[in-house]
Amino acid sequence: MASESVILVTGGSGLVGEAVKWVIENETGERFGKRENEKWIFLSSKDGDLRKEADVKAIFEKYKPTHVVHLAAMVGGLFKNMKYKLDFLRENMMMNENILWQSKEFNVKKVVSCLSTCIFPDKTTYPIDETMVHDGPPHDSNFGYAYGKRMIDVYNHAYNEQFGCHFTSVIPTNVFGPHDNYELEGSHVLPGLTHKCYLAKKNNTPFVVWGSGKPLRQFIYSRDLAKLFIWTLREYEEIDPIILSVGEKDEVSIKDVADGIVKAMDFQGEYAFDSTKADGQYKKTANNAKLMKYIPDFEFTPFDVAIKESVEWFEQNYDTLRK
Ligand code: NAP
Ligand code: GDP
Repeated sequence: MASESVILVTGGSGLVGEAVKWVIENETGERFGKRENEKWIFLSSKDGDLRKEADVKAIFEKYKPTHVVHLAAMVGGLFKNMKYKLDFLRENMMMNENILWQSKEFNVKKVVSCLSTCIFPDKTTYPIDETMVHDGPPHDSNFGYAYGKRMIDVYNHAYNEQFGCHFTSVIPTNVFGPHDNYELEGSHVLPGLTHKCYLAKKNNTPFVVWGSGKPLRQFIYSRDLAKLFIWTLREYEEIDPIILSVGEKDEVSIKDVADGIVKAMDFQGEYAFDSTKADGQYKKTANNAKLMKYIPDFEFTPFDVAIKESVEWFEQNYDTLRK
């Protein structure tokens, strides 16, 4: 990015968007910090409804971005995904359609969009890599979200082949960190359990973890993911997606997550599993070899340190955070 760049971040008020903003504002190094020739614009839904073509066109006319980091999406944990499959499919398809089309219309030099490891095939061999996105149906619990997201990769290739656009995507594993969504029902597991453990401690009630606690997941701290997003925007040239994840050896069980939260909150009370609730996909172990080939010296924040920082942020911001 040699000349002046205007980088538009959709979903700038969400978990990942706030982390990108934090890294851009706080990192001093040239590698991940803000560079002099860059202007970063962070959007929220107050700037326009990305499901509406006219709103998206007006945003592009206003800012004339040279680069787009497309994070905005309808997002939620397993239980929200099971309930609103059509909304996940439709709303995400509409946002992606509008963002990619206007990016092409406004000659945006590069777009990085966001997929997720939960869009991978359910019946598969492990570890999963970037070549396997379209190899079979996703897990039934989130097929609306998964097919909507998979279409971004299809779009990226079609835009590239027909118009030469440099549109690409990344595939993060489960993300967590400050500014997460802490709703009790609809959120992802780590913020959901953080809130539940906090209430159990406050009210002296049992801390109940949904499901068996056995499923396995790889977690990435939002501020690590933000750095990798910034690297992708500046350095990654492929159209094919790239997995942004910790290694296979860092996969943990849901019980490990619950234990980590209990420790970070110093919760001493009763702790149980509700196995009448769904477990979702047992595992979706992703291989980060492609990432490590490109950026071998990248250091991930240790899981316990990242949980501690996230829990502290939650406790300090309880009155105003999303819940
Ligand atoms: P999030 O915290 O729920 O934030 C969603 C963002 O999208 C917010 O900034 C929200 O704006 C915006 N948005 C939603 N609907 C919109 C609309 N109709 N018009 C305009 N803006 C809209 O989500 P996140 O966890 O940061 O997710 C960011 C990206 O990472 C998504 O593409 C998601 O699929 C992907 N991802 C997330 C995870 C995870 O574990 N969280 C894992 C893998 C991939 P408001 O704040 O104004 O509502
Ligand atoms: P996933 O990784 O896409 O499946 O999404 P989640 O972040 O929602 O994680 C789901 C896994 O965590 C399942 O195995 C759930 O049974 C388990 N889990 C345990 N407690 C909770 C909770 O409070 N909320 C959520 N979303 N999942 C929970």
